Amino acid sequence: MIILKAFIPQKVLYQNEILQYKLGQELYHRYKNMDIEMVPIKDHHNVEFIKKAPDEKFVEFKKYLVLGVRKSLRPTPNERSADFIVPFTSSGCSAMCTYCYLVCNFFKGSYLRIFVNREEMIKAIQRKIKQVGEEKTYEIGSTSDMVLENTITGNLKWAIEEFGKLEKAKCTFATKFSMVDELLDAKHNGNTQMRISVNPDYIIRKIEIGTSKLHDRINAANSMYKAGYKIGINIAPIILLDNWQDMYRELFELLSNNLEKELKKQLFFELIFMTYGFANDTINKVALKGTIDVFDKDKMRPKGRGKYCYDYGIREDAADFFRQMIHYYFPSSKISYIV
Ligand code: SF4
Repeated sequence: MIILKAFIPQKVLYQNEILQYKLGQELYHRYKNMDIEMVPIKDHHNVEFIKKAPDEKFVEFKKYLVLGVRKSLRPTPNERSADFIVPFTSSGCSAMCTYCYLVCNFFKGSYLRIFVNREEMIKAIQRKIKQVGEEKTYEIGSTSDMVLENTITGNLKWAIEEFGKLEKAKCTFATKFSMVDELLDAKHNGNTQMRISVNPDYIIRKIEIGTSKLHDRINAANSMYKAGYKIGINIAPIILLDNWQDMYRELFELLSNNLEKELKKQLFFELIFMTYGFANDTINKVALKGTIDVFDKDKMRPKGRGKYCYDYGIREDAADFFRQMIHYYFPSSKISYIV
């Protein structure tokens, strides 16, 4: 498996509070000993010099790492990939997918932030489990990519093993990264599910900048399946470029030919159509010049404030195409949802 180079931040911004936590001390000393510039900040949400900087600096800020303490830990109900979304150990990402939903929320501040108070997070989950009293699934990667974060902190392996000890709780996460070797011997006890997010090779290379290659993601899914994890496939986001039918047909064929036979029998799909924001457009035009423009005014309609999604008819026709593809290539798979 080809592994992306380990993420070495150009600069580390940290809250002093992190030094009250073992992981915080470890990360602080690791980067200080590497002679990386360490900049104290008051609040990971509100870094003044980043807020004031021009948008062109987006790519530079993606090379930063912010270390902080997460305050809000309450799980919130969800009706799609999990029963609850849990605020977990990271937010943001070092990759630069040109449609990234995080840019809509954090704009230039969608760089990788790591929160060092993981014990408090798992305790919040344990309280929720006690309160609900029945088996539920908890999404731990809704604001970041946990496989990427794991290469820095080991937090995903830690979380998988913590969930492995719990009753009435399953953990789930989606990823566009393939660095799963560390996770293969984790004591997951059947309590973790990985959803590998895929797209046609062309989209990954041109639009999902800085993420793992398609073949590596497929290999990661196979390895995790062999290690006993439940595996799902996210086609996320579906992007309707001019020749989208051919590209996605090829993708299904490739998945069908390369995923383990037994894995395919337990596979489920989540289909998520692209939403694109003004914020993405603003950043892409100045910071990611030359990338493909994924906004198609003929196919998209406004969706809420500053966002666009595919028009009703176009989306429905495309959804039918995906249902047919899944029925043909993966007859025993179920589609969990299309959104
Ligand atoms: S991998 Fe996910 S979080 Fe990272 S830039 Fe891409 S869409 Fe955003």
